[in-house]
Amino acid sequence: MGPYKRYDLIIIGGGSAGLVAAVASGSFGARTLLVEKARLGGECSWTGCVPSKTLISVANLVHKTERGFLGRSGTVDALNKENLDAVFGYVKGITEKASKRSKVKGLLEKYGVDIIYGSPAFLDRKSIQVDGKDYSAKRFILATGSSPAVPAIDGLEEGYLTNVSLWELEKVPPSLAIIGAGPIGAEMAQAFARMGSRVSLFEKSGGILSKDDRELSSMLEGFLSDEGIDLYLDHEIKRVRKYPGGWEVHAGDLKHNKDKLIKASHLLVASGRAANILGLGLEAAGVGHDGKNIFTDEFLRTTAKGIWAAGDCNGKYQFSHIAEVEAKAAVRNALFPLRSKVDYQGAPWTTFTEPELAHLGLTEEECIQRGLKHRVYRQSFGSDDRALTEDNAQGMVKIIVSGGARLLGCHILGPRAGEILNEIILAKRKNVRLYDIGLSIHVYPTLGMVLQRATDQWFAELVKRRPLGALINMLRKK
Ligand SMILES: Cc1cc2nc3c(=O)[nH]c(=O)nc-3n(C[C@H](O)[C@H](O)[C@H](O)COP(=O)(O)OP(=O)(O)OC[C@H]3O[C@@H](n4cnc5c(N)ncnc54)[C@H](O)[C@@H]3O)c2cc1C
Repeated sequence: MGPYKRYDLIIIGGGSAGLVAAVASGSFGARTLLVEKARLGGECSWTGCVPSKTLISVANLVHKTERGFLGRSGTVDALNKENLDAVFGYVKGITEKASKRSKVKGLLEKYGVDIIYGSPAFLDRKSIQVDGKDYSAKRFILATGSSPAVPAIDGLEEGYLTNVSLWELEKVPPSLAIIGAGPIGAEMAQAFARMGSRVSLFEKSGGILSKDDRELSSMLEGFLSDEGIDLYLDHEIKRVRKYPGGWEVHAGDLKHNKDKLIKASHLLVASGRAANILGLGLEAAGVGHDGKNIFTDEFLRTTAKGIWAAGDCNGKYQFSHIAEVEAKAAVRNALFPLRSKVDYQGAPWTTFTEPELAHLGLTEEECIQRGLKHRVYRQSFGSDDRALTEDNAQGMVKIIVSGGARLLGCHILGPRAGEILNEIILAKRKNVRLYDIGLSIHVYPTLGMVLQRATDQWFAELVKRRPLGALINMLRKK
């Protein structure tokens, strides 16, 4: 059977990366086909960012109400247990609404992108088959995303929760054991604890959020413990057992060489991701992978000529905004004689616990490991008026700069840290110096003032430095 239709670019997967790639390709005037297995939107819209952030927003409201204000706590009748179970219906509603409001479908139509639904398999590196029909293209972008990687743990066969099945719950679990303290594990641990679940969070390494600044992630560990979450760091799950009342989790304490048994009504697996590659016939196209990630180079090229991979499926940085940036770079590389790279040093992320932990660039540990000359400016939210007025002043900002005051990294543990970081993202991209942030007038009282305060320390240090300090001292009216 010959090709059904020839395209300039075929994109496989209609999530964060695939949708952006399809719109970009269509807007460049390329004949574009988007092939989606299930429904447009992907993990972020349906089972990731949107439902999780909706749950978090309710959980934070519950927490604030229970913690109390005006000297009264737990006084809002709406927050009884029965009503809290309604959170799952609410999450579904918001998720549907967010998807309907998305402008992407309109843009796909506007730019003439063809869409087909089905599971494609490569015939060779220039053609795929979907439901018995062949489609060919000069170039392809793989954007199939990832799924929860379920570790090989004795007894972990079925009945456990993942970020996919979590949203089918109808009641807040009385107790929840979570395997893995990465962003998903940490966010869900706090959200469910705030909704009333007894949460046990297991992590094999010595700390939560292992890619973040250690000083800040360990502060966050303290906050989570204070809220009553049982943190089991340095604990490896040896086996689990499902019984009618829930789960037994057998964990080995790696530090003290002791075994522990924890029981929970529900078990959530959040210990990593694996690329969606099943049934794609990547071998027929010559696309290399290790079963977990599709191999790509710095230009997002796979091992097959004319095929790129963007988003979670290449396993680099598994966030929606990075999937989008990679998608645009992959389209540029596919359609033009360009070699676009993604600047991952400028790639931020945020874990949406409360306080949030936002990350940009190098951590302090990375600067030390690389032997970089650096200075760290710390500023607590405890002295930020806006944070105080909101009774939400936990955490601090850490700005890390080079000897020449250029930004190397910024890490913020604090209220709405993800929003505050956006200013620094632009500053780092434009390679501005720390004092440019300090000299920019920040609105009072906003949380972003904390950045200006941090830079004040740089100015205060200036007078101590030679030869400028000596000059300032000389010029000062006495
Ligand atoms: C609980 C949770 C919370 C998260 N929160 C955040 C957050 O707050 N911020 C953030 O930036 N990121 C967050 N993420 C990560 C984010 O969801 C992903 O990084 C993002 O969705 C990746 O986009 P993608 O396009 O690579 O994959 P996806 O969005 O998953 O899209 C892949 C698409 O490909 C389709 N597909 C799969 N296989 C095939 C096939 N064989 N043929 C055709 N189509 C196929 C899928 O159906 C899907 O539509 C979260 C993830 C989870 C699980």
